[in-house]
Amino acid sequence: MVKLKSQIPGGDLINQWTNYKSSLPLVSPANKQKLEIIVIGTGLAGASAAASLAEMGYNIKSFCFQDSPRRAHSIAAQGGINASKNYQNDGDSTYRLFYDTIKGGDYRSRESNVYRLAEVSGNIIDQCVAQGVPFARDYGGSLANRSFGGVQVSRTFYARGQTGQQLLLGAYSALSRQIANGKVQMFSKHEMLDLVLVDGVAKGIIARNLISGKLERYSANAVVLATGGYGNVYYLSTNAMGSNVTAIWKAYKKGAYFANPCFTQIHPTCIPVSGEYQSKLTLMSESLRNDGRIWVPQEKNENRTPDGIPENERDYYLERRYPAFGNLVPRDIASRAAKERCDSGFGVGATGQAVYLDFKDAINTLGKDTISSRYGNLFEMYNKITGDDPYNTPMRIYPAVHYTMGGLWVDYNLMTTVPGLFSIGECNFSDHGANRLGASALMQGLADGYFILPYTIGTYLSNEINKSKVDISHEAFDRSESNVLDRINYLISNKGNTSIDVFHRELGNIMWEHCGMSRNKAGLKSAIDKLKDLKQSFWKDVKIPGKADNLNLELEKAGRVADLIELGEVMVHDALQREESCGAHFREEHQTKEGEALRNDEDFTNVFAWAHDGEDLDPKLNIEKLIFENVSLTQRSYK
Ligand SMILES: Cc1cc2nc3c(=O)[nH]c(=O)nc-3n(C[C@H](O)[C@H](O)[C@H](O)COP(=O)(O)OP(=O)(O)OC[C@H]3O[C@@H](n4cnc5c(N)ncnc54)[C@H](O)[C@@H]3O)c2cc1C
Repeated sequence: MVKLKSQIPGGDLINQWTNYKSSLPLVSPANKQKLEIIVIGTGLAGASAAASLAEMGYNIKSFCFQDSPRRAHSIAAQGGINASKNYQNDGDSTYRLFYDTIKGGDYRSRESNVYRLAEVSGNIIDQCVAQGVPFARDYGGSLANRSFGGVQVSRTFYARGQTGQQLLLGAYSALSRQIANGKVQMFSKHEMLDLVLVDGVAKGIIARNLISGKLERYSANAVVLATGGYGNVYYLSTNAMGSNVTAIWKAYKKGAYFANPCFTQIHPTCIPVSGEYQSKLTLMSESLRNDGRIWVPQEKNENRTPDGIPENERDYYLERRYPAFGNLVPRDIASRAAKERCDSGFGVGATGQAVYLDFKDAINTLGKDTISSRYGNLFEMYNKITGDDPYNTPMRIYPAVHYTMGGLWVDYNLMTTVPGLFSIGECNFSDHGANRLGASALMQGLADGYFILPYTIGTYLSNEINKSKVDISHEAFDRSESNVLDRINYLISNKGNTSIDVFHRELGNIMWEHCGMSRNKAGLKSAIDKLKDLKQSFWKDVKIPGKADNLNLELEKAGRVADLIELGEVMVHDALQREESCGAHFREEHQTKEGEALRNDEDFTNVFAWAHDGEDLDPKLNIEKLIFENVSLTQRSYK
């Protein structure tokens, strides 16, 4: 087992980041001009990092697989972004945001990183306002806030239900400015298919031009991965269909450790599954829980319509079980509570796998116009998908896979275990522990990209200035490119009978069934065997139409699904090894009498960081012990 060096600077928590920033090595303006950085991903994390690094003088190559950087999955984010500005004067502070995040994550994240995140959160809002992001404002013109789950203050800044879109347009405009300045070279429709190491150090990538099918080589002094989450390992998720694990999986195969892969967030308010051939689930933002009340009928197998069920025959089960937080309990808690009600026979709708989210009281109190100004586009989306009008009848919702807290292990500098390889945004193992609080992903992505990486990468790059640049004719690039080519050729020439989606759906079934909202030892063990079989039949029987030398969406998907299947195995190992329940990781063997997650702090106050140990071998576990000096670990309670 390797001892992981988290590089947390010394000193007290409150001054740690400020002091560290003032003492870390700098790269002079003249030297920055000589250095190149590859940034994979143009979501909030990647676009903000590329723009900021270019502004500082570095030369950036920016990649995304979409046809425009603006189409990164971040554009879909709805509800808002947190910051401890305390504009509402309701008692918020840096410490409180830090504390809420640590507690919300069930004490499975690093104090230093989380405190830093809370500390820079206010800067993000200032930065975005300066870019012209149209955050909601109250009547007097001040920025408005709402609440998200797991907190008792209002600290979420928002732009209706389109916060991600507006923030991404801000980051994209900053990126575009640097493209126009010649400091960023933009490669859209390019997919990174391998990481190139020279003497164990990240020096470049192999990317496939998705239009021409050509493999291309790019070298740099450092590589930054900002490639988003891997929730699509469950097939059905709220993520964009293209979201995948490939970039970080290639990094994992080259020595980057994968941390806490089994920590998957299941979001409580999504439109329920309606049929077997569905390929996407739609989120109804958590912001709706500010005004919507969740309930099920008190009687099992109720078949009256919701308006036919009187108040005294409804069970507002979150308000009943968690009076202090009510409908705004964190996502893991709200999701499990919905599952428990449905599994016990109180679910509604045709499948019985749904609960009501009801706005009647809010509309009566606040008026339809106010509700429309807060959530109008979400109501419209719900209406278009289901045909029901939420102004008149409650929404039907059910939990769905939404966010992955796991990802590449990074130290305080956001560097992985591969020197020169950095990971930011959702694709690192992040600051959210075992359960992310709502509206904290946008905060983390932009904190990493605008305010943290631009400083910390200097620590590494200050040692690069005297090194000569690796040429793309280096044999490491030859080897890497030839491996990528072999795999593509295999996939395209394999004359199997089964399409990619069949394998992907099967993968999703296995993962949801055995490594989903709740897990147990027997199920997880059986999942390992099922995933091995699935992997074998994939490589034997996969069928990909078309050719490799032009646009081929099935070929793209095949590579991603192959990686997701392997990831599934590591997720299951992780869930099996963690003999406790914490946050979103619910092991049925470890629960309190009331059915809440039961942590085992003595043995598991740590990060699991998995290392690739060779093809078809089990991954190797490494452990980072988490030290808590500023908060005491308690049983999480929202009652
Ligand atoms: C429906 C929905 C709503 C959400 N709402 C909120 C919210 O209100 N508040 C909040 O805080 N969080 C929200 N989240 C979570 C949040 O949106 C994401 O965590 C965040 O946007 C991720 O940003 P990112 O920059 O890390 O990655 P992404 O935005 O996913 O960007 C990934 C980038 O990497 C590129 N990429 C990936 N792989 C490769 C490759 N191999 N080669 C080249 N390029 C590659 C992609 O092209 C893309 O540009 C929501 C999530 C969903 C699913």
